[in-house]
Amino acid sequence: MQERRDIEDCAREVIARCKTLARFSEDAASIRRTFLSPPMRECHREIAEWAAALEVTTRVDGAGNLRMLYPAAKPDAPRLRRLLMGSHLDTVPNAGAYDGILGVVLPLSVLGALQGRKLPFAIEVVGFSEEEGVRFGIPFIGSRALVGGLDEDLLGRQDAQGISVRKAIENFGLNPAEIAQAVIGSDIFGYLEFHIEQGPVLESAGRPLGVVEAIAGQSRLEFTFTGQSNHAGTTPMNLRRDALAGAAEWISAIERRAQTASQDALGLVATVGAIQAKPGAVNVIAGETRLSLDVRHQNDNARNATVDYFVFQAEDIAKRRGLDVRWKIAMNQRAVPMDPFLVTQVEQAVSRAGCEPYRMVSGAGHDAMIMAERVPSAMIFLRTPGGISHHPAESVGVGDVAKAIDCGLHLLDQLALSPEYRG
Ligand SMILES: [Zn+2]
Repeated sequence: MQERRDIEDCAREVIARCKTLARFSEDAASIRRTFLSPPMRECHREIAEWAAALEVTTRVDGAGNLRMLYPAAKPDAPRLRRLLMGSHLDTVPNAGAYDGILGVVLPLSVLGALQGRKLPFAIEVVGFSEEEGVRFGIPFIGSRALVGGLDEDLLGRQDAQGISVRKAIENFGLNPAEIAQAVIGSDIFGYLEFHIEQGPVLESAGRPLGVVEAIAGQSRLEFTFTGQSNHAGTTPMNLRRDALAGAAEWISAIERRAQTASQDALGLVATVGAIQAKPGAVNVIAGETRLSLDVRHQNDNARNATVDYFVFQAEDIAKRRGLDVRWKIAMNQRAVPMDPFLVTQVEQAVSRAGCEPYRMVSGAGHDAMIMAERVPSAMIFLRTPGGISHHPAESVGVGDVAKAIDCGLHLLDQLALSPEYRG
């Protein structure tokens, strides 16, 4: 195992590299790098240079994913297996330097720390072309390509300029006909993603690393309360049908319920993040209010039961106030458990890196969620100072990155000893 000081040097290099990649942006004053935009080419070039020093062969697949292959000890061995490690290289507008990018740069540093040592399996580091859904309004274009989910429908989607995903791929100098070759084969035995937590849980628990055991399922619904618009001065309180006041009562009820969720729905989060009242005038009682509802939990039954209860509450409040309420489901995404074997392996590696393992659920979606459809997957979260992400102030600690690298090295050694993966 590496000296701790060496690993800290690697960690500093990881952070410096993330900052270097942050310079490749569509916006002059902030970070914004969407699917196959010109700065993505510079980003690929820079990473490929770092990878070239590691005997890694680099290619860009038909979906614009950067694929870097570190060979196995015996590359010609029959039944050679391959481990994938990666995350995404695209960003949101006004992004930080680490979301996604860290999960591409850090594995390269783990490979560097091997100092030329090869393992019984090959390791492929993937920089996904798209995860955030900024350009085309649909996320995970990169990882979908690896699991064979980048279909005609998705390729035909257009951005705000009317450019389709297919055209964007061509404009980048790639061939959409090669997307089929981006799909992973049966030689892949696992996918591992390092990612900043993007929340305050690890920091408040005083833990540098988190072991993700599941990615929460997610319900999104749209509700409309309808009452009667009327004069704010002449309509007595007891003769009103105020759609905004009814919605407000419902929002408070949602917050209370989520705060006091029972044992089987512990960790449930529920949010009304968007609200629109009509006509929206200071002296008019709102006749209509539209709201969003977002509910997340690792247990699909608990999530669905909670959503049912929120619907019941909305109907109950509406009935009592003489309002009408309609609702529709905008998204119902199942929870994705991480692979139990890999999660246990990650836990052991975290312990060996000198940290007490901390199991947690990811409230946000990640590439691992898509990869888990095809291949055993696991995620390691790094503590996010202040819980701040999707913001220029996003950061990560050198000591935490060093622990993550150390954890990655232990994990590779553990997997190398596992008979299943020796090839
Ligand atoms: Zn991310």
